[in-house]
Amino acid sequence: MRSTMSTVYLGTLAHLKANPFETSNALEIIEYGALWVDEKGMIIDYGKRSDILAKVPEAWIEDYDDAWLIPGMIDGHVHYPQYYATAAQGGQLLDWLVQSILPAETAFADPAFANDTAKRFIKHLLSCGTTTAMVFGSQFAHANEALFNAARELGIRLIAGATLMDTPADGIPDALLQTPKQAQADAEKLIAICRDEPLLHYAITPRYALSCSEEMMMMCHGLLHNHPETYLQTHINENRNEIRAVLAHFNQCKDYLEVYERYGLVTDRTVLAHNIHPSDGELDRIGQAQCSICHCPSSNLFLGSGLFPLSRHIKHGINIALGTDIGAGVSFSLWSNLSDAYKIQQLQGLSLNPEHLLYLATLGGAKALHLENETGNFSTGKSADFFVLDYTRSDYLSERLRRCNSLEAQLFCLLHLASERQVESTYVRGRRVFFYPS
Ligand SMILES: [Zn+2]
Repeated sequence: MRSTMSTVYLGTLAHLKANPFETSNALEIIEYGALWVDEKGMIIDYGKRSDILAKVPEAWIEDYDDAWLIPGMIDGHVHYPQYYATAAQGGQLLDWLVQSILPAETAFADPAFANDTAKRFIKHLLSCGTTTAMVFGSQFAHANEALFNAARELGIRLIAGATLMDTPADGIPDALLQTPKQAQADAEKLIAICRDEPLLHYAITPRYALSCSEEMMMMCHGLLHNHPETYLQTHINENRNEIRAVLAHFNQCKDYLEVYERYGLVTDRTVLAHNIHPSDGELDRIGQAQCSICHCPSSNLFLGSGLFPLSRHIKHGINIALGTDIGAGVSFSLWSNLSDAYKIQQLQGLSLNPEHLLYLATLGGAKALHLENETGNFSTGKSADFFVLDYTRSDYLSERLRRCNSLEAQLFCLLHLASERQVESTYVRGRRVFFYPS
């Protein structure tokens, strides 16, 4: 019986063994490869299919033929209550937020809508090959419970928390404001649930510096201190007008990062999204704190926020994840964001290789989110989190790949030309959580 047997998945394997920004030969591609997974969904071994099949006494075989098996994408920044707010026309960050985003987030006051959207949101991510997502949740407690329930039921690895705002301002609907006391009670409830769930994690989520009072920031610090297993996520240095507004409000701070530092929120459990316009001093301090940065390529282009300075982050030894940043991003597929990530670096004179791109979306993201012992590549003992990319479904891709002179060149083509339409199946901990068409 399958449930009591290990499984061997056959296909072309592609993953990172190490960080390609530090080591050569970090990328491994195995044609006619095999991934051997135990009945609990953990990886036993991988390699050439003839070698693996010779070792396996008895196993269920899933033969994906010429398709590629790739570690699950790790989306380090995505907003659940912006599920239906993608591709909203007009304006840059602050105008866009007030005109299009905050009204969309108020719709989650309706429990039935929140329930339905939570399921669609998680299914959509899984259909793109995303197996881990760090999510900005709703302001409504029932909507976040729906999100965690949907994640448990549908099988994604989730890091999420309520998006916190308590500072009234023009254009911010009152319904989206919480009190620090209520926010703390709601967070404690979900933190307790996560303790018994290996795939669920809580992230304390102040929206950004201007949306939270001193009392709310201190409450966030208290949660982070009292629950060291939680994460903290927020935004930083995304847009020049935003930075000017933050520095005008916190006029005693020399830069944006210092606002979060004042409240003890810059730690090795912190993930800051964007950081497009950092000073060298901020990069120094982010590196020293071992805080992670999440780069959101599609969003940065859509909102015209700027070009992410990847080289400067790498120079400071900062761990980087990639995010779709739905709804500012216009694709739910982190894979599609890799093509934008490449172009953003091209515009700054840096030509990334396929191993750099794949690293950022998989093992690099896992490292940035402290999940490198759990997911990110095919190492023995890790969770079998991967997706199957069946390029043969596209005649053009089949013909294009046939004309490549190496597997690396094929991977480069796939990074730019394949999309969620070629995702055949997605697995988290060996459980098939999406298959095409569904
Ligand atoms: Zn965001």
